[in-house]
Amino acid sequence: MRVLKAALCLTKTRFAAPGSVTLKKVLINSCRSCSSGVIPNERIRNIGISAHIDSGKTTLTERVLYYTGRIAEIHEVKGKDGVGATMDSMELERQRGITIQSAATYTMWKNHNINIIDTPGHVDFTIEVERALRVLDGAVLVLCAVGGVQCQTMTVNRQMKRYNVPFLTFINKLDRMGANPGRALQQMRSKLNHNAAFVNIPIGLEGNMRGIVDLVEERSIYFDGPFGQTIRYDEIPADFRAEAADRREELVECVANADELLGELFLEEKIPTNSDLKAAIRRATVQRLFTPVLVGTALKNKGVQPLLDAVLDYLPNPSEVINYAILNDEDATTTTKVEMDSTRDAAQPYVGLAFKLEAGRFGQLTYIRVYQGCLKKGEYIYNTRTSKRVRIQRLVRLHADQMEDVDEVYAGDISALFGIDCASGDTFTSKTTANLSMESIHIPEPVISMAMKPANKNDLDKFSKGINRFTREDPTFRVHFDTESKETIISGMGELHLEIYSQRMEREYNCPCVMGKPKVAFRETITNSVPFDFTHKKQTGGSGQFGKVIGVLEPLEPELSTKLEFEDQTVGTNVPKQFIPAVEKEFQGAVIAGVNRRHGVITGQDGAEGYFTLYAEVPLNDMFGYATELRSCTEGKGEYTMDYSRYQPCIPSTQEELIHKYLEATGQLPVKKNKWKS
Ligand code: GDP
Ligand code: MG
Repeated sequence: MRVLKAALCLTKTRFAAPGSVTLKKVLINSCRSCSSGVIPNERIRNIGISAHIDSGKTTLTERVLYYTGRIAEIHEVKGKDGVGATMDSMELERQRGITIQSAATYTMWKNHNINIIDTPGHVDFTIEVERALRVLDGAVLVLCAVGGVQCQTMTVNRQMKRYNVPFLTFINKLDRMGANPGRALQQMRSKLNHNAAFVNIPIGLEGNMRGIVDLVEERSIYFDGPFGQTIRYDEIPADFRAEAADRREELVECVANADELLGELFLEEKIPTNSDLKAAIRRATVQRLFTPVLVGTALKNKGVQPLLDAVLDYLPNPSEVINYAILNDEDATTTTKVEMDSTRDAAQPYVGLAFKLEAGRFGQLTYIRVYQGCLKKGEYIYNTRTSKRVRIQRLVRLHADQMEDVDEVYAGDISALFGIDCASGDTFTSKTTANLSMESIHIPEPVISMAMKPANKNDLDKFSKGINRFTREDPTFRVHFDTESKETIISGMGELHLEIYSQRMEREYNCPCVMGKPKVAFRETITNSVPFDFTHKKQTGGSGQFGKVIGVLEPLEPELSTKLEFEDQTVGTNVPKQFIPAVEKEFQGAVIAGVNRRHGVITGQDGAEGYFTLYAEVPLNDMFGYATELRSCTEGKGEYTMDYSRYQPCIPSTQEELIHKYLEATGQLPVKKNKWKS
């Protein structure tokens, strides 16, 4: 049984000094020749690491890879050695020191196979986070001990909720001045509404952070050696015993509230054993009723190994998560949900989801999560969207930008295929008849558009090649050609998102681009009423859509386009009255002022769960740069979407500007200029 051998070898060398890379070879075929032929589900974890940007995800992942023997040395994000952290594989990421594309990697810890996806934290790249959360069974939420729960943490939290992902929380950067893990925990409870408690606490803070106290096993853990690679267990230091006892009590209470078995023991005032407590934490975490909170400092190499232990102890294995596929019948009118069989049984029909595409050095790389059955090299599979049959030439596992060949993968595994023509979100199955598809991934609508063109006219070929690839990889990146303005318009999740693509175009396709504010095509408008009557019918994968719009288009009075009045005109209970005062507060003033400044007209508003929604009509011409402004005036909490509404007369100053530009362009300016001034 080779796995065990690999694991034993791993155990022996896990704490060896950097340089002992012998592990790599041993691990390559680790999943092949177990007695049953497959690693059992219990020994697999698929996890994501999500957080606010700069919380230390990449730094943490680097430690995880090092301690698990996956890499031989640690490189820092933006490190002086110029190598950059292993997971930040794109040149641009190294330069900027941020994670843009998530990379999948796998590693082994204590005889368990852990697949990790390092997810980007910046809001502009949420599709990557959404994909990771869709595909993974559990996650680690990283918080900064100084910053605590920040606005992006809330976005990530919403996403985890949507995909029902159980998670652990790691409060990082305890070495920083002002680190306050207690406050961060408090925010987990108050801002995110989680039943959370420490499972370990720090021994000292900031510069005095020496180790941690494991509250479950009631012992202290120290991280010796230059890279914290040698674990030393000891008694709890005398001056931390009282705090440890209090926090343990709090832990037991929180878990008892979420877990029936422990709750019973608690009520009977029986003392749970350590393994009772551990098992209860696991049950409650897997059901998302509890969030274990761990502490540490990735940069100073403390607290990472206990986090890995917690991943094994508390996060679900693939068989503990129920996944469904959608069965579409022949005429695509009815759909049925089919539960996937997560046992690693080769006899089950294969079902896999392509959740990420990447143009690698050797052609397109397609990341696939297997949900059922087994896939072997050389086999044929079917793309259920295109009904095309493809042969699996090569099957690999990913470790940032390096790869290792494998012969077969099973339900729960994450791997990648080569040279397969498909789009992200496609489902692959073993039979054409199996009209299955995995649930579609939630794809947010783009919120911002810009014009983009190659700086050099001769680069058009490279330009379209790059655009083609980016749109296939990233469904939130859209491109269309505006026939009226004769411009290529790119749309995405934020200005940084689009800027990154412009830079990648230059770097990867040697095609420098010019980005510009998209020209808004001004037009004549109606002056009289126009009635309309439209019926919308659409049958998608899920339930159908039906809608009817009847109404009249009328020109607005000109003064309405700049005026703003705030008046509560809600009737009935559609908008509960108690929300109205809240609507007036929060960041509302700043947001309304911003909309006003952009010549917007507010058409409605409502509020729920502490958020307020403002509906407004704003000239597209004035929406440029809004995502950034909204984010800064709401401390990043604000989000917006926009849809085309209608054409309407533009404000006089814009008219004047347009006419001025037109005259300038046609050489009539000197004559008319005075006329306009008069
Ligand atoms: P990411 O954006 O979440 O991937 O964060 P990075 O791993 O890139 O880290 C952001 C910055 O925080 C880098 O400068 C790291 O060196 C630093 N950092 C990460 N972990 C720690 C930590 O535990 N303590 C301190 N003081 N800094 C850290
Ligand atoms: Mg990063």
